[in-house]
Amino acid sequence: MKTTSYLDTDPLGFYGEFGGAYVPELLRPNVEELDAAFNSYCFTEEFESEFKQLLKDYVGRPTPLYLAGRLSDKYGATIYLKREDLCHTGAHKVNNTVGQILLAKHMGKTNIIAETGAGQHGVATATVCALMGLNCIVYMGEKDIERQAPNVQRMKMLGAEVRPATSGSKTLKDATNEAIRHWINHPDSYYLIGSVVGPHPYPKIVAYFQSVISKEIEKQLLEKTGKTYPDKVIACVGGGSNAAGAFYQFYDNPKVELVAVEAAGLGIDSGKSAATSVLGTPGVLHGSLTLLMQDADGQVTEPHSISAGLDYPGIGPLHAHTIATGRAVSISVTDDEALQAALELSQLEGIIPALESAHALYALTKLELKKEDVIVVNLSGRGDKDMNTYLEKFPNL
Ligand SMILES: *Cc1c(COP(=O)(O)O)cnc(C)c1O
Repeated sequence: MKTTSYLDTDPLGFYGEFGGAYVPELLRPNVEELDAAFNSYCFTEEFESEFKQLLKDYVGRPTPLYLAGRLSDKYGATIYLKREDLCHTGAHKVNNTVGQILLAKHMGKTNIIAETGAGQHGVATATVCALMGLNCIVYMGEKDIERQAPNVQRMKMLGAEVRPATSGSKTLKDATNEAIRHWINHPDSYYLIGSVVGPHPYPKIVAYFQSVISKEIEKQLLEKTGKTYPDKVIACVGGGSNAAGAFYQFYDNPKVELVAVEAAGLGIDSGKSAATSVLGTPGVLHGSLTLLMQDADGQVTEPHSISAGLDYPGIGPLHAHTIATGRAVSISVTDDEALQAALELSQLEGIIPALESAHALYALTKLELKKEDVIVVNLSGRGDKDMNTYLEKFPNL
């Protein structure tokens, strides 16, 4: 008898009550073709050897699992950092774009479109499009184009076209709307989604490509501790892809506590927050039924977080499911707390984290830790892109 897994979807792409593929009829063949191509191609030896080779030689994997000694002393537990910040392009996002670009190429697609918030996924997509010689259009909110100028320049230098999304709050949600609109008008293009969001099968595909993170953690932990699993895994959640990758091998092991950290912004009750699991209710956003922040009329509420990567009004359906069922605990961390954690890691360990990852680090102060606990914090990205914010917030360093 087959045992059920948190990672299983029903035939319509639902994790429990969340997920599905809410797309216009016109795009139905696209998502079905994508699912078929993923299932038939991504488990072949041909795909696996090419994917592994690129992850090794191009992305720089395996990323280290680093025992953070001074951080461990401070929090009274054994704390490891999974160093996704050392990936090519500076974050975990490239694991997924490498996988999806191989899939797109296999499907004969030559025009790639993507959405981006902070620009990290846009850069990771532009990077693999350059690598494969494919056309790349990235939609980005006008406001994000202004506040993330270096990443815009990177995408352009890599040969991508950056198109501004000028509707709504001019941020990630609006860029995603524009990308979906483009996809509807050009169904022959490949939509390369950057997180475990969107219509089925995207959440499944992105989680699978990111699962390399926890597959490496298992091997590395075995070497270092004699066990393949930790007591807790902590990861920040924007859409949820780095968390899904870090949790993947542990969803079905009840001995591992999964800690999902969301951005509380200025505070959960401040009206300026992105803590979707607390403030969200079920609704359809960007092709799936999930938890999202919305008003009584179903209008999406504008999120706020100091980190552009967590500034999203929804979470992926897999996370909505694991949080709703109690499998994962959700913790929210404010802008100021994340800044504090970023400064702390910089000065305790000599590692400047991305603001997103700093949210996960701050969760260490909110958990009850025991001396014998082995904790893995997924350090999703590096802080280079956030130096302007750090400069502004820490003027007296
Ligand atoms: C994009 C991003 C995130 C948030 O996205 P997820 O899909 O939730 O992982 C977190 N950290 C970094 C460094 C990012 O670039």
